[in-house]
Amino acid sequence: MSLFKKEVPFISIGNGELKGNIKLKKGTLIACPHCGGSHPVGLSKSSKFVNGELTPEVETNAIQFYSCGKKTYMCGMDGTALNGIRLAEQV
Ligand SMILES: [Zn+2]
Repeated sequence: MSLFKKEVPFISIGNGELKGNIKLKKGTLIACPHCGGSHPVGLSKSSKFVNGELTPEVETNAIQFYSCGKKTYMCGMDGTALNGIRLAEQV
């Protein structure tokens, strides 16, 4: 019996699976497979406990994402694009 009432989405990425993929930075424009447009890459945020206090959030390169409409999609991790992510055409 599952402990979760809703299905939890899982992703798995093998060692070296992203090797050679494009690098993503904050603001990199990627081609959106959902709307055909382009969207800027955003960075995840992180904070930690230090002496029992939560530090202010800072952007990290751990996970990259973009938003299209009301949805947000993961597009990279550790600064490397997931398979299938393409840069937007340069105009
Ligand atoms: Zn889009």
